[in-house]
Amino acid sequence: MTKPVYMDYAATAPVDPVVAKEMMNYLTMDGVFGNPASRSHGYGWQAEAAVEKARRQVANLIHCDPREVVWTSGATESDNLAIKGVVANFDRPHIVTSSIEHKAVLDTCLWLESQGCTVTWLQPQSDGVITVEQVSNAVTDETVLVSLMMVNNELGTINNIAEIGAMLRSRGVLFHVDAAQAAGKMLVDVTSMPVDLLSLSGHKVYGPKGVGALYVRRDPRVRVSAQIHGGGHERGMRSGTLPTHQLVGMGLAFEIAGNCLDEELRRLESFRAHFLEALSVLPGISLNGSSEQRVPSIMNLRFDGVEAESLMLGLRDLAVSSGSACTSATLAPSYVLKGIGLSDTQAHQSIRFSLGRFSTADDVEFAARQVLEVVRRLRSVRQTAS
Ligand SMILES: *Cc1c(COP(=O)(O)O)cnc(C)c1O
Repeated sequence: MTKPVYMDYAATAPVDPVVAKEMMNYLTMDGVFGNPASRSHGYGWQAEAAVEKARRQVANLIHCDPREVVWTSGATESDNLAIKGVVANFDRPHIVTSSIEHKAVLDTCLWLESQGCTVTWLQPQSDGVITVEQVSNAVTDETVLVSLMMVNNELGTINNIAEIGAMLRSRGVLFHVDAAQAAGKMLVDVTSMPVDLLSLSGHKVYGPKGVGALYVRRDPRVRVSAQIHGGGHERGMRSGTLPTHQLVGMGLAFEIAGNCLDEELRRLESFRAHFLEALSVLPGISLNGSSEQRVPSIMNLRFDGVEAESLMLGLRDLAVSSGSACTSATLAPSYVLKGIGLSDTQAHQSIRFSLGRFSTADDVEFAARQVLEVVRRLRSVRQTAS
């Protein structure tokens, strides 16, 4: 049996084989298995050198100083560390975020709200974008932190982080950005984007799962209180023995991402155009979210008159996602799609297709044919029934 065509890169990506091979060298007795914190022998020094190389590789992709990179277990932890770590230095402050953030940000802010913080939940425009005016209007004298994502994981839409960041910097408000879906998918450059904290994930960029990083700006300095206490690793911000093989994997994955970004963007842009073009022969298929301000790899499509659940059943040869991976186990409509103003019915007619490094022209061709066939069939059944 052949495997379904993978079109769920926004949920996770396979590890690049080059990365997987390199990780193997940091596990066993004949590899670099030492504890990077061991200062008394070569096993430790070698591991530390590998970890610091990986830190430079991650720093290079976002154009920051390696000392500004704090290792974590993933973007979920980075989001938690950034938001709780800043808020801990204030007395029940005001935070601004949006209603279509990743759960890692939403649930963290909800929890802080239960602890006495005030949270303003911005509603995006129907295109999925948060504007600088909205953020500016929400900021008060009590606001200490704004948290917004760079690329939305369900829609693929892009917020104008540079513009929002410049406004917040001028008003002395800290800015956290979840860039888990942006790194390796578009230019992420903290020298031209005034952000203070930025979350990264290994596995969205062809690195391993269970590893991530938080960029913490040094100038102007950002104070972040540790959320995990222990041996004082990562300059006291995040304790725990560093997982050398994971970090080496993430570092190499980020280096590769930087090297092939332009070429990959061009390829995915052409796949996207091809896919949408092929589907355009049928009426009533539309793209959720802005058609301009977006990364090419994520397409959230709505099929008028077709239940996404039925469509997905018919698309057994494609691995796609309805709503986000976290909510696809439930039948509740996606809060992101509801957040941009879709009705329950419209949200239940939507499917996310996401492409990546190992997608081929044949995959895209095949997917488009399958979608057309199943949508036509479901619509004709519906017509016969009514
Ligand atoms: C995947 C993702 C996360 C969570 O990252 P993990 O490394 O899996 O914890 C957070 N935010 C966004 C936008 C994501 O896409």
